[in-house]
Amino acid sequence: MQIETLAIHAGHGVDSATGAVRPPIHLSTTFERQPDGEYPHGYVYTRLDNPNRQALEQALAVLEGGEAAIAFSSGSAATMSLLQALSPGDHLLVPTDVYHGTTQLLQTVFIPWGLQVTVVDMTDLSEVEQALQPNTRLVWLETPSNPMLKLTDIQAVTDLAHRAQALCVCDSTWATPILQRPLELGADWVIHATTKYLGGHSDVLGGAAIARVADPYYQRVRQIQTTGGAVPSPFDCWLIQRGIATLACRVQMQCESALAIATFLAEHPAIEIVHYPGLATHPNHDLARRQMRQFGGMLSFEVKAGRTEAIAVAAKLQLFTRATSLGGVESLIEHRASIEGKNTRTPGNLLRVSVGLENGQDLIADLAQALAEVSG
Ligand SMILES: *Cc1c(COP(=O)(O)O)cnc(C)c1O
Repeated sequence: MQIETLAIHAGHGVDSATGAVRPPIHLSTTFERQPDGEYPHGYVYTRLDNPNRQALEQALAVLEGGEAAIAFSSGSAATMSLLQALSPGDHLLVPTDVYHGTTQLLQTVFIPWGLQVTVVDMTDLSEVEQALQPNTRLVWLETPSNPMLKLTDIQAVTDLAHRAQALCVCDSTWATPILQRPLELGADWVIHATTKYLGGHSDVLGGAAIARVADPYYQRVRQIQTTGGAVPSPFDCWLIQRGIATLACRVQMQCESALAIATFLAEHPAIEIVHYPGLATHPNHDLARRQMRQFGGMLSFEVKAGRTEAIAVAAKLQLFTRATSLGGVESLIEHRASIEGKNTRTPGNLLRVSVGLENGQDLIADLAQALAEVSG
């Protein structure tokens, strides 16, 4: 079955108790025990498991083609639980432009706790190979990257990780399961901030980790989640599953509009460079064609005139809301350097765009008016 069909049907059918076509939300925190001490429905207490979470996890596992999935209360909680399953003294590799929050988590929690971290440019395979150590347990990759839209070769990095007896985790939030299949390329785990495209409406926080095999490391991550309580609420699970049903058609339209916008900006005299893997001029365009089904709904661009003018362009836009985050129905624009703070590597003249579901030509017209008086 194709992914569009799976996205509608995976993880739920008609409710057998009521005939409801869409799943009920089970808010109960506790479940009845039978006189013989058994729990015939399999649920005991909602931190351990809940029908809405189980349904969402089934859908996530099917969408990514993994044996098992764990739904979390945020993308960061998914990252945290995977790292907590390691031991102090273990080593991991992370990419130079890994999600900002992942860097924060490593610096403030996990390096003090005893993890060893090497930051590498994962677009350079020889750097990855040289950085692997006997105690490397995880190679963490993220593609496309934020906010520079660099691509990492998932299969090649996974092969290097496996040769060194390390696992490979791919943060595939920006690509979604529609555009990129990390587990099929050999990765051991896929993670998502379901806050973004899977939820899809900027109204629910969530995360997911999907394991290719339900091995002891998976069991450990599950144990950390359920004993520590990094679980999403039943309503949040329900919202994310509702979002998944329309994921394929949302992503399809967002990709089409993003390509049209990137093409428009690339030809605009006020723009220095557009970062979008769908453009033939993008340094990883060939890899993008091999590794992704389409090129995604995220792009960034640099304004020739500089930082002040870039901020002014964002201020003039009518249809793009100035806000962080991505993957929702409304288009967002963000001056990344100022949100990332003083140690940022992001160019000051860069704006990042999350393309929404407005008409693509309307979005282009808005960009055209905002850029009209900016010098080239
Ligand atoms: C947003 C995001 C995260 C973190 O997710 P939260 O739900 O905000 O904790 C992780 N990785 C990427 C690529 C993201 O965009």
